[in-house]
Amino acid sequence: MKTSAGWKFDNTYRRLPEAFFAEEIPEESAAPETVLLNLSLAASLGLQEDGLTAAVLSGSELPEGAEPIAEAYAGHQFGNFTMLGDGRALLLGEQLTPDGGRVDIGLKGSGPTAFSRGGDGLAALGPMIREYIISEAMQALGIPTSRSLAVTLTGHGVQRESVLQGAVLLRTASSFLRVGTFQYAAARQVDEDLKELADYAIARHYPEAAAADNPYEQLLVGVIGRQASLIAKWQLTGFVHGVMNTDNMTISGETIDYGPCAFLDVYDPDTVFSSIDRHGRYKYGNQPGIASWNLARFAETLLPLLADDREAAIRIAERQLARFGTLFEREWLQGMRAKLGLLDEQPDDEALAKELLLVMKESQADFTNTFRALTDSAMEPPAWFALPPFREWRNKWEARRSQQPAAEEAIRNRMRTSNPSVIPRNHQVEAAIAAAEQGDWQPVHALNRVLADPYAYSADQEPFTAAADPSVPYRTYCGT
Ligand code: AMP
Ligand code: MG
Repeated sequence: MKTSAGWKFDNTYRRLPEAFFAEEIPEESAAPETVLLNLSLAASLGLQEDGLTAAVLSGSELPEGAEPIAEAYAGHQFGNFTMLGDGRALLLGEQLTPDGGRVDIGLKGSGPTAFSRGGDGLAALGPMIREYIISEAMQALGIPTSRSLAVTLTGHGVQRESVLQGAVLLRTASSFLRVGTFQYAAARQVDEDLKELADYAIARHYPEAAAADNPYEQLLVGVIGRQASLIAKWQLTGFVHGVMNTDNMTISGETIDYGPCAFLDVYDPDTVFSSIDRHGRYKYGNQPGIASWNLARFAETLLPLLADDREAAIRIAERQLARFGTLFEREWLQGMRAKLGLLDEQPDDEALAKELLLVMKESQADFTNTFRALTDSAMEPPAWFALPPFREWRNKWEARRSQQPAAEEAIRNRMRTSNPSVIPRNHQVEAAIAAAEQGDWQPVHALNRVLADPYAYSADQEPFTAAADPSVPYRTYCGT
C-alpha cells in the first residue's frame, strides 16, 4: 500500500485560464535513486520520510493530489524577448503546509514539455547538486530563495558534451510566478487573463494590496520593494545570479533558477562567472541596474491595469519605478552598517562603506574573508590589513565605532550575524560535485552541514573558509 507521506495539495494555479499552462506527465526514471534528501524541509512541509520514495521524488510516481503542469511564460533573455515556459520543469502542485502556508512543489529535469523548444527537458547530476547546495546555503544565509527537497538519480544518461548521469531536483518556492509570466500574459493581449493573473499574484503574495485604492499599483510597489531587498542581500553577500533574465525574476521576491551562479571570491564589481554572459550584462556590479530594468518590463505589463488612461498608467509606473534606486540604496546601506557593526546612523556611513570597498578592490581582497576578519579579531588578519590604505580606513572606522553608545558586545553580535564565516566557495562546491559524480558523497554532505550554519564562526568551518587560487579564473556553465 502507498503511504500518503503527508501530501496535501490544493492546486490553484491550474484554475487560471488554460493558456497559462500545459498539462504534462513527468518521465519515468529507469532506476530512481535518492542521493540528497532535505528532511528538515520535508518536515516543515508536513511530509514524512517513509513516503518520500525515490519513485515519488523523481516524479516517476505521482503523489496523491499532484496535477503536473508546465507553466507558460515569456522573458527577456539577455535583453531579447522570447516566448518560453517550463522546458524542463513541472509544477506538481501546491502543498498546504502545517503552519498554514502554501508552497509550490516542482520537478526539474523530469523530461520534455510543450515548452522545451528542442531541448531534452533533462538535467545532469552536477548542476542539480549545485542548485541543492547553493539554494540551501542561501536559505541559511537568510536570503529569500527557492529550496531543494531532494535530488534523485534517474538511471538514464543525459547527452551534453559527454554523456552524464541524469538527475531530477525536487524544489519548492512560495511560487514560481515570474516577471516573465506577466510578460507572457501581456504579449497575448487578453486583458481579462492579465487581470486574472495579477489578482492571483496579489492573493498569493501581496494580499494586503487587494484592499488598496489601486491594487495593481500596490502589486508593483510590493514587487519593487521585495526585489530591492533581495538584490541588496545578494550584493551584501557577494552572490552573483548569473542569468537575471526576466523569466528568472520572481514576483514573490525569492531567488530562483540557479544556473551559472556563484559567490565572489576577490571583490570586483566586474565579476562575471557565467560562460554565456560574454558582455558582462549580469556581472556583480550590474545586478541592481538589471533588477531595475527587469522591473520596468514588469511595470509595462501592468499598464492596462494601472489606469484606464494609458498616459496616467505610465505616470504611475514611472513614479513607482523611480523608487527602486532609493529603496535598494537604503537596504544596502543598512546591511553595510550591520556588516561594519554600526548600530546607529551617521551621514558619512555610506562614504565609509564605499571607501572600504575601494580599498578591497585595489587590494584584491576576498569579499567574505575581509568582513570575517573585521568581525573576528582572533583570526589572523589578511596581509593587506597591514598596508597604509587599509590602516587609514580602519582608523576612520574605529573612530566611527567608538562614537556610538552601543556596547562592544552588541556591536560584535551584529557583525557576527551579518558577516557569514562560510559561503559556498566555488572551488569547494566543484570539488564536492566531482566527488559525488564518482560516487563519494561525503564532501557534499560535509559542505551542506557547514553551510547550514553560516554565521557559526566554529572551528570545523576553518577548512571551508580558504579562498580559491586567484590565478585560476572561475566559470560556470548554464543549462547543462
Ligand atoms: P534558465 O535561464 O536556465 O532558467 O532557462 C531558460 C529556459 O530554457 C527555460 O524556459 C527553461 O525551461 C529552458 N531550458 C533550460 N534547459 C533546458 C533543457 N535541457 N530542455 C528544455 N528546456 C530547457
Ligand atoms: Mg529560468
